[in-house]
Amino acid sequence: MAIAAPIFELTNVSHRFGSTAALHNISLRVEPGERVALLGASGAGKSTLIRLLNGTLLPTSGEISVLGQNLNHLKPRQLRRVQRQIGTIYQQFHLVDNLRVIHNVNAGNLGRWSFAKACLSLVYPAERDKAAAALTQVGIPEKLYARTDQLSGGQQQRVALARVLVQDPAVILADEPVASLDPERSREMMTLLKDLSTQKNHTLIVSLHTVELAQMFCQRLIGLRKGRILFDLPTGSVTSELFADLYRLESDERAMSF
Ligand code: ADP
Repeated sequence: MAIAAPIFELTNVSHRFGSTAALHNISLRVEPGERVALLGASGAGKSTLIRLLNGTLLPTSGEISVLGQNLNHLKPRQLRRVQRQIGTIYQQFHLVDNLRVIHNVNAGNLGRWSFAKACLSLVYPAERDKAAAALTQVGIPEKLYARTDQLSGGQQQRVALARVLVQDPAVILADEPVASLDPERSREMMTLLKDLSTQKNHTLIVSLHTVELAQMFCQRLIGLRKGRILFDLPTGSVTSELFADLYRLESDERAMSF
């Protein structure tokens, strides 16, 4: 039986921003269909890891393979082809507020469309059925022609998710997708992400501030502390001591060493 290639494979990956070591010696594999949460305090390196996974950053050292392709060795056009299979949702929704929802959803097609088609679509929206289907999947079909800035925060986050869905990616990366939502809306968004990844066997990697949401919705938890992996375990195996270590303040560490 053929063994499926991992979606991501990182070997000794480090990333520096000038003198700041954001990630240090990260090695991990993510298999197709896994639902993984990235946890860690602010500055632990979660966003940097997501940007390395989607190829918007390259490692300072180490190797990253995405869908069987080593990102370090790809030409820009090849990189874009890989990137089209990765949909990323950011904490800031990155929507154009004064456009109608359909145009923001269709922005997910831009990697695939010609420049002319993209321009024409701003006047006569192309592939309406696909955009409408994506909005139905995220539960707001009636908002197709609404102005984006008239939607609530939760609805805007759904539009950002619909924009990823029209891309039909193999992988969904979500960088703190619920950071600006209230607890009820956060659970709704996580349920949606989980259902979408389960239905289509999309791999999902999501960075979260809340341990409870990670435990509720993900099968595997990766804890990052100061740019290093503190743990990478099935959800049920992460102990409260590990969570305490993950979020321990440096001042506590200094106090403990006296
Ligand atoms: P997290 O997402 O866990 O909050 P980040 O990946 O954003 O962490 O940041 C990891 C480290 O890298 C932090 O020390 C942060 O200040 C630094 N960093 C992140 N982005 C940049 C950047 N563009 N320039 C300089 N330093 C950065």
